[in-house]
Amino acid sequence: MRIGVIGGGQLGRMMALAGHPLGLEFLFLDRSNDTPAAQVAPSLVGEFTDPKLLNRLARECDLLTFDWENISVESLRALGSSVRIAPSLRALATARDRIKEKQLFDKLGIPTTRYAAVNNPRSLDKALREIGLPGVIKTRSLGYDGKGQAVVRTRDEAHAALLSLPPVPLIYEEFIPFDFEVSAIGARNAQGQTALYPLNHNLHREGILRLTRAPFDSGRLQSKAQSHLRKLLQYFAYQGVLNIEFFVKGQRLLANELAPRVHNSGHWTIEGAATSQFENHLRAILNLPLGSTAARGYSAMINLIGSLPPRDSWLAIPELHWHDYGKTPRPGRKVGHVTVLAQNAMLRDRLANKLLKDIAKHEAISPSPRR
Ligand code: AMP
Repeated sequence: MRIGVIGGGQLGRMMALAGHPLGLEFLFLDRSNDTPAAQVAPSLVGEFTDPKLLNRLARECDLLTFDWENISVESLRALGSSVRIAPSLRALATARDRIKEKQLFDKLGIPTTRYAAVNNPRSLDKALREIGLPGVIKTRSLGYDGKGQAVVRTRDEAHAALLSLPPVPLIYEEFIPFDFEVSAIGARNAQGQTALYPLNHNLHREGILRLTRAPFDSGRLQSKAQSHLRKLLQYFAYQGVLNIEFFVKGQRLLANELAPRVHNSGHWTIEGAATSQFENHLRAILNLPLGSTAARGYSAMINLIGSLPPRDSWLAIPELHWHDYGKTPRPGRKVGHVTVLAQNAMLRDRLANKLLKDIAKHEAISPSPRR
């Protein structure tokens, strides 16, 4: 059985690594051959919209999936019934458009931020009047890791942001002074079996995920987040792994966005859960029984951004698992991650803080990234 994956980033690479023991083969499609996935599986090189390449992927694979959502729904739709695609294009189309995403949250009764579509100075002024300041202006599509968005505190800043962002449809949302952020990840297969992971506590810096801790013992927050996730899985008759990110203010959860794919905040599941999100994604799209999502202890996942810290000394930490994505270092780029596993939340947090301090020291010594 061969799985075609559109996008060959680190998520695709980890998917392939999880799929090999299941006896699966992979064929990736990405714009370059210098991708994390191409180092572990064959890869076609070209545009995500290239009909020739997509048709070849469809012909040579039993099933298509994707490792990020900034791909063309229309180009995939053109494949018609020649190949099965999971998760569905309906879920992909929703996740690609922040307005559609929020409309769906509203429809399913999942609390979210107040928002308005913005296309020009007039609609921006209307949004500012209705929603107020401060706020966040974001591109409706193609944003990731905080790219394509600006926090604005005054009307002047809002209009300046409108001019500085690309001339594409935008969304204006209220700024949420949240206490912290969480995400919920779950899988569903075609038979309707679902498997939900424990809640993730996420810390971002400059829009990029820095640290995820799970399980995050939060009492009622987890059950609320999981009930929202279940609604979405059912609504789409979903096949695969789905992630939803929330802002938390007091005991309130506000949905920020969803990702119809494996997610960075679920990397800890490779070592920290009985079955990883990558394996469960593959099981789900193949309609196989899902594996247990039970945590094996207390995990902290730290993204390695820009450059890798000294590997050999970090490997001396017995609870640490090292993941190098094989990427060329570049500021702001996710080049790897580590997961530490501990017996309780206190030990885990202590270890994670020590590693974050080590990273800060390393960054201070070597401002220019090196491998
Ligand atoms: P996003 O691309 O929507 O996931 O945004 C990236 C990060 O920016 C989020 O994880 C938050 O830390 C922050 N952010 C986005 N939208 C808002 C908002 N409406 N209020 C406050 N912070 C936000």
